Amino acid sequence: MRKIIFATNNKHKLEEVQQILAGSFEVLGLNEIGFAGDIPETGKTLEENASIKSKFVFKKFGMNCFSDDTGLEIEALNGRPGVYSARYAGEDGNAENNIAKILSELRGIENRKARFRTVVSLILDGKEHFFEGIANGQIIDEKRGGVGFGYDPVFVPDGYNHTFAEMSSELKNTISHRKKAMDKLVSFLGDN
Ligand code: IMP
Repeated sequence: MRKIIFATNNKHKLEEVQQILAGSFEVLGLNEIGFAGDIPETGKTLEENASIKSKFVFKKFGMNCFSDDTGLEIEALNGRPGVYSARYAGEDGNAENNIAKILSELRGIENRKARFRTVVSLILDGKEHFFEGIANGQIIDEKRGGVGFGYDPVFVPDGYNHTFAEMSSELKNTISHRKKAMDKLVSFLGDN
């Protein structure tokens, strides 16, 4: 079976994609190939960061690989926190503080439109391809729900009354930005 590296240390993300691609690709995470270092995410866009990660792995290991990068883009904040979502309120990457910061920046602002955007960079046989997945929604005033991670407690996806943090992970995973981007990747890989 063809092997492909997913440039991630996130076990949950890896298992999800391994399941989807079972039968057509053997998907290996960074742990599986013995890489324990950090890949610097120095890009100014999600595309740049995804690209940095997949190119880093391709150069080092010479294997087909892909990586993903996600950000929350809030319309009234001109797309912030965007590529800086993980560390918006500080380098320690604390989700509580990140949420507090966006809620404070949105205080008194009526436009609550936001979207999660995932970009996947794939390097297949030396050529780069991008895939994008978007979940549109609204930022509410206070946190609701205890499932999930990151900004999930304040994000209500369009068409639902619950935040991502109030949904089962099964439901979130059928409608999420990541799922949409991964679906495009998987369908491309299935054809190639
Ligand atoms: P990553 O590129 O998947 O590591 O995501 C970067 C940051 O975006 C995370 O640290 C979270 O703050 C935020 N984020 C990404 N995906 C989600 C999600 O599905 N729900 C909530 N926050 C997310």
